[in-house]
Amino acid sequence: MDLQLKDKVALVTGGSKGIGLGIVRSLIAEGAKVANVNRSSEEGLQLEKEYAALGKECVFIQGDLTDLAACKNAVDQTLQKFGKIDIIVNNAGVNDGASLEAGPEAFVESLKRNLVHYYAIVHYALDAIKATKGCIINIGSKVCETGQGGTSGYAASKGGINGLTREWAVDLASSGVRVNAVSPAETWTPLYEKCLDAMPDPEGAKKEIEQLIPLGKRFTTIEELADMVVFLASPRSSHTTGQIIFVDGGYTHFDRKCTMPSDVTQFGPANS
Ligand code: NAP
Repeated sequence: MDLQLKDKVALVTGGSKGIGLGIVRSLIAEGAKVANVNRSSEEGLQLEKEYAALGKECVFIQGDLTDLAACKNAVDQTLQKFGKIDIIVNNAGVNDGASLEAGPEAFVESLKRNLVHYYAIVHYALDAIKATKGCIINIGSKVCETGQGGTSGYAASKGGINGLTREWAVDLASSGVRVNAVSPAETWTPLYEKCLDAMPDPEGAKKEIEQLIPLGKRFTTIEELADMVVFLASPRSSHTTGQIIFVDGGYTHFDRKCTMPSDVTQFGPANS
């Protein structure tokens, strides 16, 4: 399938690592040009160099997106470099454990890390994204559907992201701009691996989580997430807007019974 992304310009936040890196690689593989915003420079500059050597563009923009000036700068620099923005992928975020106990200041800081910059990037890029009749993809999380405990700021941010996805889809429909969200649950990234490695039995912990994922009893891959994002970024999904799509192997919505051992699920009324 030709996704018709050749020479489209994508502004991706947090594209140097994890899910964002997968999205950047998939967009470039489909012919798009990328502006990639992160705090740390090393991986982003390396990525820029790697693609430049192949005659492809993955421009690194340094900035901490909790700073509104950095959000504006990211949009301005993308426009200076490429002259347009066709695709925005709001992806940067962190499950920072700002809990009920942590207090209002910590809660507000978490919203800045996870929610406010999604709005700010789109706000600063509004004229540009309308001019190309482009599209926006927001990366969410299952946490706002399921709860997790101990992470009020992150859960509220991800709920806010889903709300903004619908809101902006309505706002921008008359301009021909599509807005969708992709929600991961358990996606295997270097950061996830590092977190499990800090546990006493990393392999055992990984297996326990895998048992909770109905489809294939395995983590979602970065590539599987990125494939959905590039499809939503493509004109091949031209009548899809305002959708929140869970790329999670059924983790968020399936009946919990389907991840129990089969001898247990035989008990109880079939239609309960
Ligand atoms: P990750 O591996 O930590 O990557 C996050 C990226 O965002 C990094 O490149 C990081 O670079 C950048 N970033 C973070 N905060 C930033 C800031 N304030 N300003 C600029 N750049 C920033 O995380 P990930 O697991 O791929 O997560 C990506 C998205 O998926 C997040 O929105 C997360 O909530 C969501 N998600 C992930 C999972 C999962 O299983 N992995 C599950 C649910 C949702 P620097 O550190 O250099 O800034």
